[in-house]
Amino acid sequence: MTADAERRTMVEVLVERGIHDECVIRAMSTVPRHEFVDHRLQTSAYSDEPLPIGLGQTISQPFIVALMSQAIGISGGRVLEIGTGSGYQSAVLAEMGLTVQSVESHRELAESAEHRLRKLGYAGVSVVCGDGNDGWERAAPYDAVLVTAATREIPRGPYAQLRIGGSMVLPMGDEDSQELVKIVRAASGPTEEYLGACRFVKLIGRHGWMK
Ligand code: SAH
Repeated sequence: MTADAERRTMVEVLVERGIHDECVIRAMSTVPRHEFVDHRLQTSAYSDEPLPIGLGQTISQPFIVALMSQAIGISGGRVLEIGTGSGYQSAVLAEMGLTVQSVESHRELAESAEHRLRKLGYAGVSVVCGDGNDGWERAAPYDAVLVTAATREIPRGPYAQLRIGGSMVLPMGDEDSQELVKIVRAASGPTEEYLGACRFVKLIGRHGWMK
């Protein structure tokens, strides 16, 4: 099967699992996921599972990428992503027409993701190396924040960098399993909505784990 055909099959599975946002479906149908994984994993690039990207990290499962992209519920504006990893989630958000600021703590991953995104023409994504526990003040406020590493609690800095009415989607729980949560920054304070169970690699630092 060609990559295009495999991607079409992947998207059919996402739709069956409940992804309905046209903008997300279009983006997931376009971004070449095989460009974000090692050549040895090419045959698994479009299966609905997370894959290793080196340094003990993973590219998220397509369904979770689609669910998080759908949950922020915007089709324009600026998004902060915490945990660039391979850059795949950033590319999906950029393909949805969003401007993306992404923060990654591993310099090697930040550099390779930036290089890959540039090569693929995703000019609307900016990758920086830093600690996402603090968000990224310089490009704030954001219309949405996506945390793509497991947290123990709501990261205060990134929450404060959301505009009023903006939303944050993050996996919250313990090291082994988390719940995907959508937090809306309402004028009266945060509201929470639970989106289902998930399993992410750990956020390192204050709102995650020290190691
Ligand atoms: N969104 C990625 C997958 C993220 S995996 C993709 O689409 O491929 C989680 C990433 O979070 C890892 O790359 C890890 O290095 C990064 N990470 C962990 N703790 C972090 C922190 N404190 N700040 C920024 N990035 C962090």
